[in-house]
Amino acid sequence: MKTAVYPGSFDPMTYGHLDIIHRAALMFDELIVSVLNNKAKTPLFSVEERVRILEEATKEFPNVKVDSFTGLLIDYAGRKNIHVSVRGLRAITDFEYELQIAQTNKKLSGGSLDTIFLTTSLEYAYLSSSSVKEIAYFGGDISQCVPPFVADMIHEKYKGRTDT
Ligand code: ADP
Repeated sequence: MKTAVYPGSFDPMTYGHLDIIHRAALMFDELIVSVLNNKAKTPLFSVEERVRILEEATKEFPNVKVDSFTGLLIDYAGRKNIHVSVRGLRAITDFEYELQIAQTNKKLSGGSLDTIFLTTSLEYAYLSSSSVKEIAYFGGDISQCVPPFVADMIHEKYKGRTDT
C-alpha cells in the first residue's frame, strides 16, 4: 500500500490546503494529513481543533486520515513506515524554504523520506493561513479562503478582539 504524509501547521486549513489534499489523495492509497504540534509557535487553533477541522473537511475522502505529531517529521514518518512527504508550492518564495526542508529530511532519514511537491492551483496561489487570519482579524471577508464552518470558527476566535 502506498502511503504519504502531508505535514503542516494547518492553522487553520484553507482551500489551498484542501486542494493539495484532494489531489494527493488521488495519487496514493492512503494520505495521512498530520498536524505539526510546534511548541515554538503560538497558534490560533489548538492541535485538537486543527485536527477536527481537517477531519470535517476531508470526511468524504475515505483514504484520507488525519493525525498529529510532535518532533521531527523523519521520526514520525519512520514510526509509520512512510517514505513520501507531500508539500505544496505556491510561489518561488516557498521554493527555497521547502527545498531546504526536503533535502534535510532526505539526508537525516538516511534517504528513506522523499518529498513530492504539488504546485498550487492558480485560484489558491495567494492563500495562506496567516493572511486568512489577518483578514478575519480586521473583519474582512474570508468566504473564498476557507469553508464556511472554518470561517465561523475563526470569527468566533476574534470576537471582541478586532481593532476595527
Ligand atoms: P507550514 O507547514 O510551513 O507551517 P502550512 O501549514 O501553512 O505551513 O502549509 C503546509 C503546506 O501546505 C506547505 O507545503 C505549504 O506550502 C502548503 N500550502 C499552504 N497554502 C497553500 C496554498 N494556498 N496552495 C498550495 N499549497 C499551500
